[in-house]
Amino acid sequence: MIESYNSFHVSQKQVVEAAKLLHLDDATIGLLSLPQREFSFTIPVKMDNGNTKIFSAYRIQYNFARGPAKGGIRFHKDETIDTIRALACWMTWKTAVVDLPLGGGKGGVVCDPKQLSERELENIARGYIRAVSDYIGTAKDIPAPDVYTNPQTMAWMMDEYETITRRHQPGVMTNKPRQIGGTEGRRDATARGGVYCVREACKHHNIDPTGTYAIQGFGNAGQRAALLHDEILGGGKLIAVSDSKGGIFNENGLNPRELVTYKLKNKTISGFPNSIDIPRESVLEQKVDILYPAALENSINHLNAKNIQAKIVCELSNGPTTPEADIILYKNNVFVIPDILASAGGVVVSYFEMVQDSYSFFWEESEVYEKLAHKMSKAYKTVAESIREKKVHPRLAAMVVAVARVAEACKLRGWV
Ligand code: GLU
Repeated sequence: MIESYNSFHVSQKQVVEAAKLLHLDDATIGLLSLPQREFSFTIPVKMDNGNTKIFSAYRIQYNFARGPAKGGIRFHKDETIDTIRALACWMTWKTAVVDLPLGGGKGGVVCDPKQLSERELENIARGYIRAVSDYIGTAKDIPAPDVYTNPQTMAWMMDEYETITRRHQPGVMTNKPRQIGGTEGRRDATARGGVYCVREACKHHNIDPTGTYAIQGFGNAGQRAALLHDEILGGGKLIAVSDSKGGIFNENGLNPRELVTYKLKNKTISGFPNSIDIPRESVLEQKVDILYPAALENSINHLNAKNIQAKIVCELSNGPTTPEADIILYKNNVFVIPDILASAGGVVVSYFEMVQDSYSFFWEESEVYEKLAHKMSKAYKTVAESIREKKVHPRLAAMVVAVARVAEACKLRGWV
């Protein structure tokens, strides 16, 4: 993350730019540039050593015009209220661009999960829900996992919520373990949605999908993309990967399955057999057909954008590219599938999970994949049409689609 970037200012700038193209009035621009509701609170946690530690936490409900707020909760040491505001803002456009009846939200706890025990993490998760339980719910705001949170975190949170409300309501959280109301196909949904977009983009731009690819960030989305790329696109050579500790390279290809197993065992990709170590940052700059950024915000910025050699950038993480970088990539003919589209598969399947929870009847995996593919390809085509029509870079074109939908909902409700 580059310190000098304030992600919230970046997200506001993106909203204003799209709103201007849509000729929205000042009141609508004002409404869409700010969160509708914010919670900032502390969570006291009894640590394993007997001391009590106070953690800062946030839940931002950015917009409710199209439905209840929806978005993940992060556990990260560098989180601030502004990073969460930006992420909540992006969730609003993400749910709108794939046309879900949901708004946008995001939460975070400022903590370093790598330094915390399982018990301490559980106490943070439960403390978080005790603080916000009145303000979340299936018709209010539905959290999910994000960076350094996972289905287990959701299980603790759902249990705390049900304990407080004394009702069974699994749909209050998504990406839960399947045994307690989770859906098939949620684990790899973000990456799967991204790879479906790559499939569309390759057709659209006449690019061979079985060429080379690189992945920046090897958490859940990065790992799943590595596995799914070959499976969905029918081949491909993964030549470079990074995680928070470093980068690795092999021009003959890294075996995705072995690499995921190695990462799970060693907690890092460094030292993977038959690979050479490269600087973490240089993974973005490799000569590949497809690049998947799957780490944190602002990784592609004015300093390195000119060095990006990929033909397609599929943004699996939220906010990986700064506005300056967007312009450079557009000029250099690098086709960016913007985060609000490329990483929307997760929230699409979250929505499917909410639907299944609401009638307590669960779909087969194949049904989830089929419905996801349909949603993603429809959204891709709508964004491609907007690129053609507005003649702007893909992020702005996607924002135009999403902002128009949310603005229309605000107007219909009589807010503006
Ligand atoms: N955290 C994921 C995202 O940023 C999923 C959100 C959700 O499913 O609500 O898209």
